[in-house]
Amino acid sequence: MNFTIDNIPFGIFSINNNQKRLATIIDNFVVDLYELAKLGYFNELKIKKSVFKNDYLNDFIGIGKTKTNAVRKRLQEILREEHIYEGEAFYDVNSVELHLPIKIGDYTDFYSSEQHATNVGMMFRDPANALLPNWKHIPVAYHGRSSSIFVSGKNFHRPKGQINKDENKLPIFVPTSRLDFELEMATIIGKSNEIGESIDVHDAEDYVFGFQLLNDWSARDIQKWEYVPLGPFLAKNFFSSVSPWVITIEALEPFRVEAEIQNPTVLPYLQEKKHLNFDIKLEVILQAKGVEELIISQSNFKNMYWTVAQQIAHHTVNGCNLNIGDLLGSGTISGKELNSFGSLLEITWGGENSIILPNGAERKFLEDYDTIIFKGFAQKSGVRVDFGEIRTMILPTK
Ligand code: CA
Repeated sequence: MNFTIDNIPFGIFSINNNQKRLATIIDNFVVDLYELAKLGYFNELKIKKSVFKNDYLNDFIGIGKTKTNAVRKRLQEILREEHIYEGEAFYDVNSVELHLPIKIGDYTDFYSSEQHATNVGMMFRDPANALLPNWKHIPVAYHGRSSSIFVSGKNFHRPKGQINKDENKLPIFVPTSRLDFELEMATIIGKSNEIGESIDVHDAEDYVFGFQLLNDWSARDIQKWEYVPLGPFLAKNFFSSVSPWVITIEALEPFRVEAEIQNPTVLPYLQEKKHLNFDIKLEVILQAKGVEELIISQSNFKNMYWTVAQQIAHHTVNGCNLNIGDLLGSGTISGKELNSFGSLLEITWGGENSIILPNGAERKFLEDYDTIIFKGFAQKSGVRVDFGEIRTMILPTK
């Protein structure tokens, strides 16, 4: 990982279970923002010091983009001056504990990668009509559950559930044997809209604080039996993982790229003057216990049919209110090639094929003690913005 001066993300850390504080990271140094506030570095910005001594980033985000961007700029000034990071405000990242940075309110998960929606449609429904008729008109989503979202490093036990392997028999209750990851990005909402007020697609990015990596863990056998007619429930809500640092949307400015042309033309409220995505490289690594790491997917955030601005405009078009700290999942981000698919369901084509691990073992879905690692970064003309990683191990069923 390479946290540069161009990045300056925000997170929450603690030492020896003491009070949590806001932080940024540069190289391998976690920088204590409360300590810097006490030393007077942010005095001219007139921010209450208590904002920096907090369990979550939400209060900080609530002071507004003008001030949070000013803090980020001030940090870049300070950290450019400090060639050697020392003193009370700097900690080796390996000596601190990183926490879930956002008190997540509502969690919405979109389904915005065309290749992913096509792959799943082919496997779960009809190969000839993989995309449902609404898909290119609506950024399809469902409301998920925020209580079970945890930060990188927190592991979980293989969930149990109802599975119906044979349509002619009754369902059974067993541990899932089709445990999977979903490679996604999380958008963190940084400003609320009033109930009844829609957010214009051209204003939508003002409502984005930043982004994290997101793993929307999924149990495919539970999903297949339960998802009709109302969509995902217990196949998804047992656990989700995010990376510890929130990368601001401002840090991603250099990495904008043209988004895929949308055909047919979308309705006027979804039409953008500039239809842009972000070029962020994403990687999934599988590490079985005692086995070398294996890269199993390389995708990119730019592989999204619907932009984040369109997702927000659509989410609020009926007057639904978003709040600071809401999390919008992008949906699984699959590219067009097999090695860029964002889930094992797609990589092994529903378990028809296997991945071969470096020790010769095979995987169709995840086994106990497998670790899944997500990484992400953007890089262009010497500017690098790293997302860090999510690292999660599957534990046996409880
Ligand atoms: Ca998902």
